[in-house]
Amino acid sequence: MSTTENLDKVWKSALKLIKSEVPISSFQAWIKPAHLTSLEGNKALLEVKNEFSKNLLIQNYQRSIVKALEASLNHSVDLIINVNRQMQSEEYTPSLSSLDEAAQHSVALAHSSVAANPRSHDTLGQNYLNQKYTFDNFIVGAHNQFCHAAALAIAEQTSNGAYNPFFIYGDVGLGKTHIMQAIGHYLIQKKPQAKILYLSTERFLNDLISHMRKSKMSEFRSKYRSVDLLMIDDIQFIEGKETTQEEFFHTFNALKDNGSQIILTSDRQPKAISRLEPRLCSRFEGGLVADVQAPTYETRLAIISRKADELKMKVKSEVADLIAEAFPGNIRSLEGALVKLQAYTNFTSRPITIDLTRDVLQITTSPENSNSSAFAVSPNFSAGRKTLERIVKEVASKMKVPEASIMSRDNSQETKNARQVAMLIARSKGLTLTEIGQAFDGRGNSSILNSCKKVQKDLENDHQLKKLVEEIEKVIS
Ligand code: ADP
Ligand code: MG
Repeated sequence: MSTTENLDKVWKSALKLIKSEVPISSFQAWIKPAHLTSLEGNKALLEVKNEFSKNLLIQNYQRSIVKALEASLNHSVDLIINVNRQMQSEEYTPSLSSLDEAAQHSVALAHSSVAANPRSHDTLGQNYLNQKYTFDNFIVGAHNQFCHAAALAIAEQTSNGAYNPFFIYGDVGLGKTHIMQAIGHYLIQKKPQAKILYLSTERFLNDLISHMRKSKMSEFRSKYRSVDLLMIDDIQFIEGKETTQEEFFHTFNALKDNGSQIILTSDRQPKAISRLEPRLCSRFEGGLVADVQAPTYETRLAIISRKADELKMKVKSEVADLIAEAFPGNIRSLEGALVKLQAYTNFTSRPITIDLTRDVLQITTSPENSNSSAFAVSPNFSAGRKTLERIVKEVASKMKVPEASIMSRDNSQETKNARQVAMLIARSKGLTLTEIGQAFDGRGNSSILNSCKKVQKDLENDHQLKKLVEEIEKVIS
């Protein structure tokens, strides 16, 4: 039997252990809000506020939670995670007000509540959705968390029409099409009768031309204006196409008037699309505009690990490290790298080693001096550099070590400690090993990783140090 007091005590001690294992931002966002509500024999019941948190905990933190509960209870634990809707009002929900907060959380790998195999849907003959592009298969990191939270709010229809249209922009291969289609899949699941339509701008244009040619514009209009959800991909291709813009403008207005949701993707934000009618531009900006950025190093590692599982490949951590460093830009190229590696090993039956990976993927720089040149530097580099400067400044003042020594090769114990703390915080803020290495006098990846591991270990026993790191992390947004 479990008293509330007992539960509280057990959960608090488990939380302490979990906190030392997972990134602080993920801990705050996902683990701390959960409640341990029952302990019966080996069964421990944890309650969370929604399916999203539940799936996220199951997929990413179940093992850490079980381990921590077992350590505080001294016996084995079967963990059950349930949704308790009453908790919804208390804590983090991916609503508009908390989107900024969500955007700040560093890597948190998430999966929504969509079932693995969404049924195919044929309301309009064909909706052109790719079955792979579901929330389940979508990995959430700092780079796309804002967009994901908004997408989920639209899918769950908790946005009350406020994000209409939902305009997603970002470079190629960063998951725009995937997240947009995930909303479509989710809606089909929830409302099988909903009329949804996904299409590229090119297809929209071709369809328009073909209906115009056949003088069947009323058919065209009734087709596009009767849907509940219209998703148009790569809307930037509409630029300069006046007739299409004109027709799309009317489609857009009709849909909005009906309360139907419109989702658009683009490689740039509305005002950067040249030769776009101002009235369309302002319509596009009238809902929610969200960008997706390049994934951080940690998210790239998570993506590699997930995609490798999907491809049934065994990828050692040092190989994953190498690929994550070598392909900083986009997720499509990460996938491409794994597929190429798999094809090669299938043909040759050779195991995936560092050397083989370097050969096959033509990675020329060794990870030890990856900061020297051949790896492209993340586009967020200058932002990363600024964050690093702030971290070093904060660490220097809190640990009473001059900033300049932290950045130098000075190896006195105090300086070394401060430098290692700065590296750990930089990692927890999503900076890549390359960025950290470049800032710290060209240190290699494994030297940085070892430093971080050492501080992580010190944190377990040194309460004061832990507090200090948390304080610094809080100050650095
Ligand atoms: P975009 O439309 O921005 O060019 P896509 O949505 O086509 O990019 O994504 C490119 C590839 O990368 C797809 O195979 C997609 O499934 C994958 N991908 C992108 N983002 C993610 C993510 N966050 N999690 C898992 N896979 C992703
Ligand atoms: Mg796309």
